[in-house]
Amino acid sequence: MSRSREETIKEMKTKGYDVLVIGGGVTGACIARDAALRGFTCACVDKNDWAFGTSSRSSKMIHGGIRYLEMFDFKLVFEACRERRQLLLNAPHLVYPQPFTFPIYKGDKNGIFMIESGLLLYDMLALFRNVQNHRMYMHDRAMELEDGLDSDRIKAAGVFYDCSTDDARLTLAFALTAIHDGADCANYIEVVSVLRDGDRLAGAHVRDVLSGEEFDIESRVVVNAAGAWGDAVCELDEPDAPQKLQLTKGSHIMVPRGRARTKNALPIVSPTDDRLMFVIPRGHFSLIGTTDTYYHEDLDNPFATREDVEYILEAANHILPRINLDLSDIVSTYSGLRPLAMQEGGEDVAASKVSREHRIYQGRSGLLTIAGGKLTTARSMAEEMVDMVAMKLLKQFHVKAKRPCQTKNRPILHVPELPDTEARVRALAGKLKYDDDILVGLFKQGTEALEVLALVDADPSLGERLDPVIPHIKAQVRFAAESEMARSVDDFLVRRTEIYYTSADQGLGVADEVARIMGGVLGWSAEEGKRQVEAYKETVALSRRYATAS
Ligand SMILES: Cc1cc2nc3c(=O)[nH]c(=O)nc-3n(C[C@H](O)[C@H](O)[C@H](O)COP(=O)(O)OP(=O)(O)OC[C@H]3O[C@@H](n4cnc5c(N)ncnc54)[C@H](O)[C@@H]3O)c2cc1C
Repeated sequence: MSRSREETIKEMKTKGYDVLVIGGGVTGACIARDAALRGFTCACVDKNDWAFGTSSRSSKMIHGGIRYLEMFDFKLVFEACRERRQLLLNAPHLVYPQPFTFPIYKGDKNGIFMIESGLLLYDMLALFRNVQNHRMYMHDRAMELEDGLDSDRIKAAGVFYDCSTDDARLTLAFALTAIHDGADCANYIEVVSVLRDGDRLAGAHVRDVLSGEEFDIESRVVVNAAGAWGDAVCELDEPDAPQKLQLTKGSHIMVPRGRARTKNALPIVSPTDDRLMFVIPRGHFSLIGTTDTYYHEDLDNPFATREDVEYILEAANHILPRINLDLSDIVSTYSGLRPLAMQEGGEDVAASKVSREHRIYQGRSGLLTIAGGKLTTARSMAEEMVDMVAMKLLKQFHVKAKRPCQTKNRPILHVPELPDTEARVRALAGKLKYDDDILVGLFKQGTEALEVLALVDADPSLGERLDPVIPHIKAQVRFAAESEMARSVDDFLVRRTEIYYTSADQGLGVADEVARIMGGVLGWSAEEGKRQVEAYKETVALSRRYATAS
C-alpha cells in the first residue's frame, strides 16, 4: 500500500475533497474508484472493516439473476449479465465460473419447454457471451450429473453458468484499487454528524474508531453508500428524512461438501413456502441459503436463528432426499441484510418479491444516497452515481471531470498475468513444499501472492502453516496487517480469509497466533491481543446462536 492509515487520516483532516463516500462496502469502494479515475479528489470511509456489512455476507455469486426472469425484470438481468462478463475479465483471480444444474420435476408448473426457453433467454440476455451456453439433459443423464436427486421425481435438467467469488476480498480489491487510482480510503472511521455551509452539506464530522480522535472531512459532495445503515446516515443530515430502505435478512449455512454433495450448484425449493434457494459448492464445503425475511433489529449483529437454519435444512433434505442433513453438520452460519429500495406496498409485498433494482435519492441539503442493487452490479451502480456527482460538481462548483468513466474495461489491481504469475507462485510454493490447498488462498491474492512469498524468503518462520488443516500460512497474517488494511483478528479470520466459515472450530484455535503476528505489526499490548481474541470469540458465538436462540 502506498500510504499508511495515519498518513491518509492526516490528509483527510486538511485536504478538502470533491466527493466524500460514506461506506466501504462494494458500492462505496466502487464509487470511490470511479470518482478517483475521473480525476476528482475523493475520500472514502467505513466505520468498520471493508465489507464488514452485507458485502461479506452475500451468497458470493456473480450472477445474471435467473430468478428475475420470472418477474420479467429483463433490464436487471441484462445489466447483471454484462457486469458478470466484465468481472470475469477484470478480476479473474477472484471471480470464477460456476455451473448450475436446474432440475425439472414431474408435475412442475414449468415443464421442459418453459425451462429451456428461460435458459435460452438467459443466454440471449448475456448476448451468448456467457462462459458456456445452457444444455438440457433428460432423466438418465440428469441423474448421472446429480445422483443425489430423487430419481422417481426427476424428468430432466438444464445446466447453465453463473460465477462465484470471495465477496469480501472482491470488495477489498476495489478499495485497494481506489487507493491506487488516487482516492484516500480509511477503514474504522465513522461518520457521526454532518458539516454544513449554510443549507448545503459540506462534509462530515468523523471519529477514528481505533484512536477515538474526532475530526472534520470537508467535501463539496457527500455520497451515502452505507447499505443497511443508509437511513441512519440520512437522519444525521435530516432528522425527519423519509425512510428509503426496506431491510430483509438472508441467512446461510456452511456444511462439509461430503454432506451435501452436488456436482454443480443446485437450486433447492422450500417445501414450506416454495421459495428458491441454492446449494453452492465452495471447495471442500457447500454453502446453502438464503432465507429472505423482513428485518427490524440490530444492524451490526444480524445472525441466523434456529428457525432460519431449520428452514434451510428442510429444503436441502427435501431436494436431496438421501443426505439427512441436521444441525450437527453445520460448520458455520451467517446473516446479511439486503438494503433494498422502499417499494410501494411496504411489507405487504413478500420479502423475496421486493425488487433488487437500485435507486439514487437526493436529500434537501444535497446528500446523495444509493439503495438496492447487487454485488454483481456494483460497478455500473457506481458509474451512475458518479455521473450524478460529476453533474453536481460542474453545476454548483464549476469543477469538471478530467475523464469520463474508466471502470468498464479496466482490470482491478493485482490481476495476475495468467499463466505467468500462477506459474511463479506455483514454483515458489513448490520450493516450500506447500500442499495445493495453500495455493487456493494465494491465488486469490493475485500478484500480491509473490509479495507474501517474499516475506517467507526474508523470515522462513512465516512460511509455517497456521494449523495443519487450515490452508493459510503465517506470512498471510503479516501481509494482511501490513498491506491489506486488516486491523483486527476478525478482519483476518472473517474477511481476508474464509477461516471463520470453513474451519471446524471457526478459527478459534489459531486466534491467539493471529493476534500475536498482527500485534507485532500493529504494536498491540498483551492486553490488546487478549481483547482481540475475546472479540473474535463473540463473533463466532453469534454464528452459533442458532443452537441456543430461536
Ligand atoms: C443474504 C444475501 C445474499 C446476497 N447474495 C448476492 C449474490 O450472490 N450476488 C450479488 O450480486 N448480490 C448479492 N447480494 C446483494 C449484495 O450483497 C449487496 O447488494 C451489496 O453487498 C451491498 O453492498 P453495500 O456496499 O451497498 O452495503 P454494505 O456492504 O453493507 O456496506 C455499507 C458499509 O457502510 C458502513 N457504514 C455504515 N454507517 C456508517 C457510518 N456512519 N460511517 C462510516 N461507515 C458506515 C458499514 O460499516 C458498511 O461496511 C446479497 C445480499 C444478501 C443480504
